[in-house]
Amino acid sequence: MDRTERLIKKLPEQTAALIHNPSNIFYLSGYTGEGLLLVARGLKAVITDFRYVEAAEKQCPGFEVHAISAGVSHVKLAGNLLEKHGIGNLLYEDNVVTVRALRDMEKAMPENMTYAPLNYAVEALRTVKDAEELKAIRHACDITCQAFEYICGYIKEGMTERQVQLALDYKMLELGAQGMAFDTIVASGENGSLPHAVPGDRVLRKGDLITMDYGAKVDGYCSDMTRTVALGEPSDKLREIYNIVLRAQETAQAALAPGKVCSDMDKIARDIIADAGYGECFGHSLGHGVGIDIHEEPRLSSRSTDVLAPGHIVTVEPGIYVPGLGGVRIENTCVITETGYEALCSASKELRIL
Ligand code: ZN
Ligand code: ZN
Repeated sequence: MDRTERLIKKLPEQTAALIHNPSNIFYLSGYTGEGLLLVARGLKAVITDFRYVEAAEKQCPGFEVHAISAGVSHVKLAGNLLEKHGIGNLLYEDNVVTVRALRDMEKAMPENMTYAPLNYAVEALRTVKDAEELKAIRHACDITCQAFEYICGYIKEGMTERQVQLALDYKMLELGAQGMAFDTIVASGENGSLPHAVPGDRVLRKGDLITMDYGAKVDGYCSDMTRTVALGEPSDKLREIYNIVLRAQETAQAALAPGKVCSDMDKIARDIIADAGYGECFGHSLGHGVGIDIHEEPRLSSRSTDVLAPGHIVTVEPGIYVPGLGGVRIENTCVITETGYEALCSASKELRIL
């Protein structure tokens, strides 16, 4: 069934949903320009401005396209459409619409309109990926893995983190990525203890571990992968840390299956790292959903009671971060299947010594 129809089916009678979140708009309609989406039974409309009318008509078959005009704002136009269709209840994204925007909306809409939050209804639909979405994410993961093979042959002593980042980004674009899924992380040596390090001018030296966390965007969908490599022989301590993280990653990943509770997946990796004496050094969740956004539901966190289901796409990314020494993170993007899981990142996780 069409994605928008699945949302409409969930709406109460005489109720419309007004979508502001660009990722939700893209998911429901394929539209990538600025504007709003208004949907209800018998009503599927893109509300935009002159600049995007042609693009919206091409991208969103089955949707009416309406352009704002002088004195008629996006929400005023939405209000006019609701009035025309005799709809008096409006669900909106209360996690996106600002207090000011809500006040403006109430002023612009018909007076007797009632409002309620949409309660992440679109995000809930987005957690289970369809075949088309999986294909895009698979492609993005393939580009990410090819870029990894390339960068392993490229990294040399004396280069900066920034040079490695630029080479990775350029390679992904060359391989067909429409862009980066997020800002590429390259963290070397002691910088490896910063989970979200910004690549800088640090020069790569023999004995460094280099953590690269990056992803490509293809057809609007993200991939997410982390590999940590060594430049020359690493110290025994760094090698020990690497092996603990690898064991945590592989054990937690192997446990992925439909019906499993997200917090249990997190616990598997966390227990391995804690038992090895590094419990304090793994301060983030095990993983997250990936799709149109780089961080989506479900979260593989100690607090999440969500249950994995076929079509969920999640990362498994334990890490150990030791201030002053460095760090290791290993991450795969995986899809939950009917019987278990499939890792979408094929790049080997054995420690590579460059
Ligand atoms: Zn990542
Ligand atoms: Zn991630």
